[in-house]
Amino acid sequence: MSEDVMRDILIAEVWTWARRIGVEDRLKEIHVRPMKRKWASVSTRGRLTLNSDLLKQPARFRHEVIVHELVHLKLMDGKHTKFFNLLVKAYLSKYGIG
Ligand SMILES: [Zn+2]
Repeated sequence: MSEDVMRDILIAEVWTWARRIGVEDRLKEIHVRPMKRKWASVSTRGRLTLNSDLLKQPARFRHEVIVHELVHLKLMDGKHTKFFNLLVKAYLSKYGIG
């Protein structure tokens, strides 16, 4: 599979999760580019950046990273509280991951 196709799949996965989590209105931009120390980041303005190395990772790991960032967009406080972690796990298990 070409990298362009994999990139399109990754972006489609993000939108699917954004709808499931209810943050599709908050998500404004998706960027895929090399990142040095992170798999992804998201700003409160709705700019999601994904490490292009995610294209080489298994689907399950990609989903974990995507859901993590989108739950940040839902809660908007940038914290990794117990509630944050529970919510991430709940979304993943609801859709058969984790
Ligand atoms: Zn985080």
